[in-house]
Amino acid sequence: MRFFKQLLLFTALSLFAGNISALDLDIRIFSEFKIKKFSLTAISGKYLLLNDDTQVLEIYKNNPIEISIKNDSVAVHKNNQIVGIFEEIYLQKAGLVNALKINTDVKNASERIYDDELVVRVVNKELVLINRVELEHYIAGVVQSEIFGSSEDIDFFKIQAIIARTYAITNMMKHSEQGFHLCDGVHCQSYKRRCNHSNIMMATSQTFCDVVVDAQGMLISAAFHSNSGGQTANSEDVWVIETPYLKSVVDTFSFNMRNSKWERKIRKAEWISYFVENYPDVKQLPDYENKILNITQENRARYVLGSVPTKYIRQHFGLKSTIFNSRPEGDFVVLNGKGYGHGVGLSQEGAIKMIKLGYQYEDVIKFYYTDVSVIKYTDIVKF
Ligand SMILES: [Zn+2]
Repeated sequence: MRFFKQLLLFTALSLFAGNISALDLDIRIFSEFKIKKFSLTAISGKYLLLNDDTQVLEIYKNNPIEISIKNDSVAVHKNNQIVGIFEEIYLQKAGLVNALKINTDVKNASERIYDDELVVRVVNKELVLINRVELEHYIAGVVQSEIFGSSEDIDFFKIQAIIARTYAITNMMKHSEQGFHLCDGVHCQSYKRRCNHSNIMMATSQTFCDVVVDAQGMLISAAFHSNSGGQTANSEDVWVIETPYLKSVVDTFSFNMRNSKWERKIRKAEWISYFVENYPDVKQLPDYENKILNITQENRARYVLGSVPTKYIRQHFGLKSTIFNSRPEGDFVVLNGKGYGHGVGLSQEGAIKMIKLGYQYEDVIKFYYTDVSVIKYTDIVKF
């Protein structure tokens, strides 16, 4: 499977033989919305609107065009005049620094700015917008889209950039059957804009081409979560598959952060019935109701009460993490938990703490991922 993945990567990158720094990705943007109509203008540089390699129009700054669906094709209007109806259009960059602004009528996503180029086609009576973007512009956009306000530290952004780049290159065939590399949602990586944050831009360029590989030199699946609660999880405890670099580590860096602890109250009857209905073996335990109400975990546990996977308890009750102790209180059971997220790989809040304490970004990566190295991806791809 791994070999297959790497082979696909090799094939994909081979397509871009030549200047590796110009590696472009096709990212479907506005992927969670049904777009029927939008307007577009250059805010920097200049664009050529092409159809089948033929130039239809030049687009300058603040010079908007309207794009809509007409009989399963892409209709382009300018100044309320029809420019043409096409199967696909390609906005090719033709200036030094090129960015375009897209205005849609969808709520919460009315206006967005992207670097580089755009391809538009119609699929299933919807406009599919694909941002053809330089890898490093995309990485900076992902880091800014996923920023969660806890750190402005450039070294923390470097970690995020390296993880985002590793993910992008490993998964660039994820949507190949749909004609693009990655989508802009959490299914792939959140990517909602061009980056305009100077520290993120600097962190991205200072880690140019950097990715994380395992002991065999293979790109890793750089899993991360918000807070480990003091101990990260083994990948096999959460996702069945054992991965040598996703091993549980004791992580005191995740203590005393925003998501270090949580509490939840659940009705006793609901709590008990979950266990007895789904795991009949639990009823064989002496004094089982009492045991269900008083669950304790010394360390991060894969199972409690002998056979109940903590990941399913978390999933069923929507808990922040699988690390918790429970105690009865009146008609309720009170859960006191630690951490936030699946717990596999890097703890974002732990990483922020490590950077604050003076650790280097590579040390942080090597702490959370076992036996890995940071290398340039250009070193593992042959042309
Ligand atoms: Zn996706």
